[in-house]
Amino acid sequence: MSLDTLYREVILDHYSHPRNRGVVEPADVVRDGANPLCGDEIRVSLRVRDGVVEDVRFEGKGCSISQASASMMTERVKGRPVEDARRTIAAFKGMMHGEQAPGGDDLGDLEALQGVRKFPVRVKCATLSWITLELALDELGTA
Ligand code: ZN
Repeated sequence: MSLDTLYREVILDHYSHPRNRGVVEPADVVRDGANPLCGDEIRVSLRVRDGVVEDVRFEGKGCSISQASASMMTERVKGRPVEDARRTIAAFKGMMHGEQAPGGDDLGDLEALQGVRKFPVRVKCATLSWITLELALDELGTA
């Protein structure tokens, strides 16, 4: 199986079977994001306890890239320290903009989304949920 095929399957799997879909209740913060260029909409809700993302969920509609990326994002940061989440956000955004992640952070399955870089318009689809999560964390004042 080629890497492209493998990546496509990872994205399709998350799109067809989204992880952590819904709204966290009770949530500490709920944040909406939109990518008007493509019509993607994302709502990210989360609860943080003792500096750890205890629960994070998303709802939304839009293209497969935006929804799969949101699903992968929740899977990646749930149960992890906010500090780690922020590092992953930075590494992911860096990867999508063609930068080498500092310290060579292993993004695992998230690397499936790097093929999107070939389509600059879609980069916003992939980063939407991550930017929304970052704004939600900022709102919590957990920087
Ligand atoms: Zn999109």
